Amino acid sequence: NIRVRYAPSPTGLLHIGNARTALFNYLFARHYDGTFIIRIEDTDRKRHVEDGERSQLENLRWLGMDWDESPETHEKYRQSERLDIYQKYIDELLANGAAYYSYATEEELAAEHERQEAAKEAPHYVNEYRGMSDEEKTAYVAERKAAGIVPTVRLKVHDERLYKWHDIVKGDIEFEGGNIGGDWVIQKRDGYPTYNFAVVVDDHLMEISHVIRGDDHIANTPKQLMIYEALGWEAPEFGHMTLIINSETGKKLSKRDTNTLQFIEDYKSKGYMPEAVFNFIAFLGWNPGGNDEIFSKDELIKLFDEKRLSKAPAAFDQKKLDWMNNDYIKHASLDKVVTLCRPFLEAAGRWDVRGEKFVALYQPQLRSAEEIVGLTDMFFDELPAWDETEQEMMALESSPIAIKAFMEKLAAIPEADFVADNIFPLFKETQKETGIKGKNLWMPIRIASTGSMHGPELHNAIELLGKETTLKHMEAALA
Ligand code: GLU
Repeated sequence: NIRVRYAPSPTGLLHIGNARTALFNYLFARHYDGTFIIRIEDTDRKRHVEDGERSQLENLRWLGMDWDESPETHEKYRQSERLDIYQKYIDELLANGAAYYSYATEEELAAEHERQEAAKEAPHYVNEYRGMSDEEKTAYVAERKAAGIVPTVRLKVHDERLYKWHDIVKGDIEFEGGNIGGDWVIQKRDGYPTYNFAVVVDDHLMEISHVIRGDDHIANTPKQLMIYEALGWEAPEFGHMTLIINSETGKKLSKRDTNTLQFIEDYKSKGYMPEAVFNFIAFLGWNPGGNDEIFSKDELIKLFDEKRLSKAPAAFDQKKLDWMNNDYIKHASLDKVVTLCRPFLEAAGRWDVRGEKFVALYQPQLRSAEEIVGLTDMFFDELPAWDETEQEMMALESSPIAIKAFMEKLAAIPEADFVADNIFPLFKETQKETGIKGKNLWMPIRIASTGSMHGPELHNAIELLGKETTLKHMEAALA
């Protein structure tokens, strides 16, 4: 019975790394007919962001995910609502001696930390009761309590013990108890559990079978195994996905990398297709084998195989995402692409009767819907200045001849018949009449009418420019 969870801390917008964690848990659950759970880990009050939960869920939905259990349908699926549950297990560990109250103050801990740094020791907690007799301990506790010091609760770590697991992604891993920095805090002074404690209680009670998460959590796993051990519970399977690197820098993807889009909100607001983003994320550290890279959600669910999660870092390549999004846009229905593009044209004040035709014209080349605005410049703005190659082309002796001949034919089309089908044959006719052909024919005409060597199907563009504007552009080009 597969039960997996995505457990976001609502500390901001949904980042591509977290979206990937959610997505692989989702694929895993759906592939095995298991249960996909969302639990909100909101015990870090300092990092809490208003509305973080809602926006995370909304973005997951936008990507095409759904879930079986979450705070929307289940009570106490937010950690902040589960404090009584954690307290029960804290009490159990305190009662059986696996945990104890720690009265060391923040100042003392900071001073000790500094000393360790100066001495180049690895940071570790030194048991404040070491060397004390039972009477001394009692006196120490009484004195601290009297001084109003609120304790934390720490777990007793067995330094000599080995904590091992077979990681679904990374294979066998083991940590020595002595290497995790001493007895660690399971309950903070404010009464909240720490992440490593709460996560175990939740994963156990929610009967999570597999924990699949980013490898920034690897060092947490031995701590979590200690809690499973202390509470006498069986641990789930773990899989730690490799980090995502920026394909351009080769370094860990950083929120400061300006050549990438990293928040799902950005994709949404720039007009990416959710299906394309889903497909792209599924290939961050996984692939089904073979060369094909375009797969629908249902295909990915069918193909998913956790044994193919990659051990090598996943390269985030913005160009690949743009390529993929273009592929999805190219193959989508015109209606769908119109729906995607229309808000951008509207926001730019460029949605008019030609709207659908603009979209059809650029559909093959769009990498995101947002691009439609810049691409339609020629229909609304002054034409851009020619670059060097364009100037050379226009300086050819044959160019004005081709342009003038073409203009005459355009001018002869009645306004009502000014459509692409009637414009298209004029190139052949101009060629016959002038003897100018190929590039030397259509390049100057393209540059004169649209202002650029590059662009969409010319007869379609000219229809949308309209007779008057096209002729005006061409006259200006000859001047
Ligand atoms: N709340 C943790 C995070 O956002 C989840 C860690 C886990 O999956 O155990 O990183």
